[in-house]
Amino acid sequence: MKIAVIGSGYVGLVSAACFAEIGHEVISVDNDHAKVNALRNGEVPIHEQFLPELLAKHRGKGLKFSTSVGDATAWADAVFITVGTPQSATGEADLSYVEAVAHEIATAIHGSKLVVEKSTVPVRTCEAIRKVLQLCGAPADLFSVASNPEFLREGSAVLDFLHPDRIVIGVDTEFSRGLMEQIYWPLTSGEYYKRSDALGAGPRFSECAPLIVTSPKSAELIKHASNAFLAMKISFINAVANIAESVGADIDEIRAGIGADSRIGNRFLNAGVGYGGSCFPKDVQAFHAVAQECGYRFGLLNEVIEINAEQRRRFILKVRSAVWTLRGKTLAVLGAAFKGGTDDIRESPAIAIVDELLAQGSSVRLFDPAALPKAKAVLGDSVQYASDAYDAATGTDALLILTEWPEFAQLDLERLRKAMKFPIIVDGRNLYRPSFMAKAGFAYHSIGRPELA
Ligand code: NAD
Repeated sequence: MKIAVIGSGYVGLVSAACFAEIGHEVISVDNDHAKVNALRNGEVPIHEQFLPELLAKHRGKGLKFSTSVGDATAWADAVFITVGTPQSATGEADLSYVEAVAHEIATAIHGSKLVVEKSTVPVRTCEAIRKVLQLCGAPADLFSVASNPEFLREGSAVLDFLHPDRIVIGVDTEFSRGLMEQIYWPLTSGEYYKRSDALGAGPRFSECAPLIVTSPKSAELIKHASNAFLAMKISFINAVANIAESVGADIDEIRAGIGADSRIGNRFLNAGVGYGGSCFPKDVQAFHAVAQECGYRFGLLNEVIEINAEQRRRFILKVRSAVWTLRGKTLAVLGAAFKGGTDDIRESPAIAIVDELLAQGSSVRLFDPAALPKAKAVLGDSVQYASDAYDAATGTDALLILTEWPEFAQLDLERLRKAMKFPIIVDGRNLYRPSFMAKAGFAYHSIGRPELA
């Protein structure tokens, strides 16, 4: 199959590389000429495990790069839209990028074409895309519009794409169903997993990727509801952690007890500084706006958002109580990315917390294994950038852990303690056991767990 993917960001580039990996011919399109040139020259614009390998394997063969939506559309059987759908000032999803792409696609529909929305969009966007395509002159009998929400997680995006928990396709014609089934056939039949060069192996990976076929509207709602539910799990466990903290109970023990119930499960039940990233904050807001438009008051989502905001405020208070006053203190901050494994800092709790610490008069020495270039672009010279965790810790009054990078859970604690002015750690990701840290000589503060001197 010939596939055009419009938008070469986290979702688009990973999707394009993975479509090529499972045997399709792909053109990855972006209107950012510098990005397209960089991709053509072999650069990899985002930090994502296995992406450099896949791009190197397929670049110039099954995978090409272009800046022309029209040319790619005219060539392809299926056109996937993967541009951003950021939050607008009123909380709704800003669909102007999707609309602009639909205008460009319309002018190039001369033969039979499947247009697929992969961006996260509010319910009924498929209908809106269909109307725009027709308004812009695309003959109605030549195209179908399908929904195919993407569930990949940054940090493990390639493996998530190739080994998904499920593939959801929202279709309302036989033509679109047939094409979508063909596109994902290497994964749903398990053929890809039999290849000797298939990426990923082990018990996590099923023999066939499950396919869920729905209407376009249901597929659109599945994506928003999934993200809202996951955000709700995080806010729920954070609320419980706050109660645990006030009575001296331990959120790790509570999580184990709750999560052992198979109806609940223990994933996405980690207490911390709250959720961030380019998806959960905007998708919860957008889903709330969708509900409002439908005349339903989805108050639960307001509470999810409020608990998340409160979690950051509580963390600042925790730092303040650990170091007494913030003005004039030098703090080491480990982590800028919104989660481990990515360089993405969009809506990162770490960046919001650093901003607040600076506003309250502290100096910050920041380290992140992948996100420093992006952090520099927003924080400028308001903070000092460190070359590693120990450099960040040097001479500081306290060290804060804000991103759950695996390497931050394996620090040489002796070296860290010697580098710091005072051995105080405030861990917003609960990466260490309090008893272990007390033995290592730290005043260790974490989320929802008893503090040991
Ligand atoms: P991104 O900002 O990383 O990438 C979007 C890309 O689209 C950019 O490279 C931009 O230059 C390009 N673009 C914008 N307008 C264009 C146009 N007219 N023509 C060609 N290219 C254009 O965004 P992302 O993180 O990949 O997210 C894309 C969508 O996928 C969003 O709706 C998001 O909610 C959804 N999503 C994201 C994730 C994630 O983890 N990032 C996961 C699932 C779903």
